[in-house]
Amino acid sequence: TKWVYVFGDGRAEGSAGDKNLLGGKGANLAEMCSLGLPVPPGFTVTTELCAHYYANDRTYPDELKPQVEAALEEVGKVAGRRFGDPAKPLLVSVRSGARASMPGMMDTVLNLGLNDKTVEAVAAEAGDARFAYDSYRRFIQMYCNVVLGLDHDVFEEILEEEKARLGYEVDTEFTAGDWQNVIALYQSKIEAELGAPFPQDPFEQLWGAVGAVFSSWMNHRAVTYRRLHDIPESWGTAVNVQAMVFGNRGEDSATGVAFTRNPSTGEKALYGEFLVNAQGEDVVAGIRTPQNITEAARLEAGSDKPSLEKLMPEAFASFIAIADALERHYCDMQDLEFTIERGKLWMLQTRSGKRTASAALKVAVDMATEGLITREQAVARIDAASLDQLLHPTIDPDAPRDVIGIGLPASPGAATGAIVFSSEAAEEAKAEGRPVILVRVETSPEDIHGMHAAEGILTTRGGMTSHAAVVARGMGKPCVSGAGSLRVDHKTGVLLAMGQTFKKGDVITIDGATGQVLKGAVPMLRPELSGDFSTIMGWADEARRMKVRANAETPADARTARSFGAEGIGLCRTEHMFFDDGRILAMREMILADTESERRAALDKLLPMQRSDFTEIFEVMAGLPVTIRLLDPPLHEFLPKTEEEIAEVASAMGVSAEKLRQRTESLHEFNPMLGHRGCRLAVSYPEIAEMQARAIFEAAAEAAAKAGAPVVPEIMVPLVGMLSELDFVKARIDAVAKKVMGESGIAIDYLVGTMIELPRAALRADEIAGSAEFFSFGTNDLTQTTFGISRDDAASFLEIYRSRNIIEQDPFVSLDVDGVGELVRIAVEKGRAARGDIKLGICGEHGGDPASIRFCETVGLDYVSCSPFRVPIARLAAAQAAI
Ligand code: ADP
Ligand code: MG
Ligand code: MG
Repeated sequence: TKWVYVFGDGRAEGSAGDKNLLGGKGANLAEMCSLGLPVPPGFTVTTELCAHYYANDRTYPDELKPQVEAALEEVGKVAGRRFGDPAKPLLVSVRSGARASMPGMMDTVLNLGLNDKTVEAVAAEAGDARFAYDSYRRFIQMYCNVVLGLDHDVFEEILEEEKARLGYEVDTEFTAGDWQNVIALYQSKIEAELGAPFPQDPFEQLWGAVGAVFSSWMNHRAVTYRRLHDIPESWGTAVNVQAMVFGNRGEDSATGVAFTRNPSTGEKALYGEFLVNAQGEDVVAGIRTPQNITEAARLEAGSDKPSLEKLMPEAFASFIAIADALERHYCDMQDLEFTIERGKLWMLQTRSGKRTASAALKVAVDMATEGLITREQAVARIDAASLDQLLHPTIDPDAPRDVIGIGLPASPGAATGAIVFSSEAAEEAKAEGRPVILVRVETSPEDIHGMHAAEGILTTRGGMTSHAAVVARGMGKPCVSGAGSLRVDHKTGVLLAMGQTFKKGDVITIDGATGQVLKGAVPMLRPELSGDFSTIMGWADEARRMKVRANAETPADARTARSFGAEGIGLCRTEHMFFDDGRILAMREMILADTESERRAALDKLLPMQRSDFTEIFEVMAGLPVTIRLLDPPLHEFLPKTEEEIAEVASAMGVSAEKLRQRTESLHEFNPMLGHRGCRLAVSYPEIAEMQARAIFEAAAEAAAKAGAPVVPEIMVPLVGMLSELDFVKARIDAVAKKVMGESGIAIDYLVGTMIELPRAALRADEIAGSAEFFSFGTNDLTQTTFGISRDDAASFLEIYRSRNIIEQDPFVSLDVDGVGELVRIAVEKGRAARGDIKLGICGEHGGDPASIRFCETVGLDYVSCSPFRVPIARLAAAQAAI
């Protein structure tokens, strides 16, 4: 087997298409090499080896060693040096690189190959001992941390002590001699901690680092990241070994990261940061505050530190040209990493840049307008679920702001919460339902949990490309980074801001749009959706086949749904209308009535209320289809619970509390979800369905008389399993329709249909379609009844199922295509065979889930219906499914 793929000198054995085999980083390094871009030579050990490693007790196949040694020879030839050579040593970086980018999730080792001997050769060759020893101490730190498992703080402490002793402000002030001292201190510390000296053999170092990369695939933060992003464990990571280039060789050297467009706003302007005389992780780790790459960005930020454009114009010019070429080559915004060694530019990474949802919209619209991609590609490229981020609140511009600090606007949206200083505290608060802001000097991958739990993130160090910023943008969490005027004092556990002291638990607000940090809670506004949003939505609407409706039962919901582009209501639940304060009493009287006439008396009270509900909704929907579901939940849910409630109903009904209590007890059910509910209610108490039908038809007649808007109510009978059930209820509905039409003299068009939410209904769909004019798949109940899993009780074991790989996804979140989907497919086919023009839709939670929407398209449903705020997501997902 070929485990190793070499790249360098304008040639490469792999290409961008080999992401599965070489990982994203390796595949793109190969591609850049073949494009003739300046890339240090190197080789990639495949993801297949990672799989082999884990399948074989963390060991390698015998062929690996000779393949790696041969690759090292080749790389050395291109670089003009040899690995382990005491006179002209080849130094390498060892970098992980999974199929899907996992930024900062895995560790990188730089300057590998240095030891007490080779460091002298490097110093002599470069004529710069400071640089050589700086590289060596960096290598020791990283290697010990990543490979030998020594805590970072061990070295940090020594370094800080030396810095203080020498009176230095920044690391770059250290001289060669200072670094030699530090290295000696490091080495004795290592011996003391590990009982063995720092490894001097470059090959031992290399294999140690390779093993560490593979092991890191299973480390805690990588596992967490995969879980959060649904990345399968089986994918594995590749290892990239690459000749070093040095950004720490003095004032004419630098290292940086950049995006070809602004990842926060999508604006077409190169956006990035760099540090002079620095290496690799310095920029992302937020050790020094980085400088802007372009002069324009520097001016906008009002920074007094020179831009790369001014400082190194030649390297800058080649970088801009390469950035532009890469964006055109990949037809997407790129995220680039580069290093400048003594004025010469080297490219170290390119990949599709992560961006906020609004940046994604802007970039897609701009690129389609620029002709770089088609409109369909633009639509296909937006992550539908991410639109959710755009619905984030922002701070009311009229609200007073008590600004206590300012940092970088690292991730948009505003958030309010109590201060916590650790990820653990953030998680605890989340579990108790308390909103918090995670406040850190800087975040590291260990903080992923805490960032997830927090409403927003505030750091006092680090730039726009710091860990906190990148991860927050990916999560869609508001983030302010690098708020340098704030200080976290861990000793006393406080945040110091402009002379004020804030403790854990004090409430602050962060504004990810301006970078401001504010005292207390501040009023927020719902976001305005930008022009790009409607442009993409317009393109999506052109591309999609399925209609998108909303689940809405109040006029306010209906209005929201329409403003998001809903083309009707797919599910109007009538029971919510009965929980209102004034109505629940009448409802209880109705349920607890002993005789039909008592029941009718209570229903008469409910009729006008119900009618006015529908009148309003029909008005808002102005002729768009509205599917109304008859009363569905178990009666149980409406029963009076407390003595007080029982007394209230008893006095309203003029019966004794004792009698009422007995009646209540007789209605008690063991398993209400499979009990007296749905159409079963209409079969036992037809007068309930009749009242509801009357309310619907009278409202429709009223709407028709008033606005002339042709309302076509679709009356939906829930929980039907048998045709005979539907027929029984339908006969009552038809009779009421006839009566109301007679009384009002207005002809009303209406449909009667059913939910398909029981397996029996799906299996007998042909028969049921004989009477049902539409089906709406109630996939919440259909999932419960197909799996035999109660949704309300599933949380306790579904998580265990997930962790043991019994199921991949929660079937209540994303439709189980194989099982529940099979029933849907059967019902669709049978329904259509019996009634060619039967209307088919879905109204479960799944109607707003992009993966489930894709399934709905494949089985050919007419529409999906989801909660109002998910309508834009569904419109986009429906388009993507159709493309
Ligand atoms: P990550 O996946 O966390 O971004 P990388 O493998 O990209 O990790 O390495 C992090 C940084 O280390 C790079 O951005 C680059 O600055 C530096 N680096 C990696 N390899 C080299 C190299 N061969 N020469 C110089 N710097 C390197
Ligand atoms: Mg990188
Ligand atoms: Mg249901």
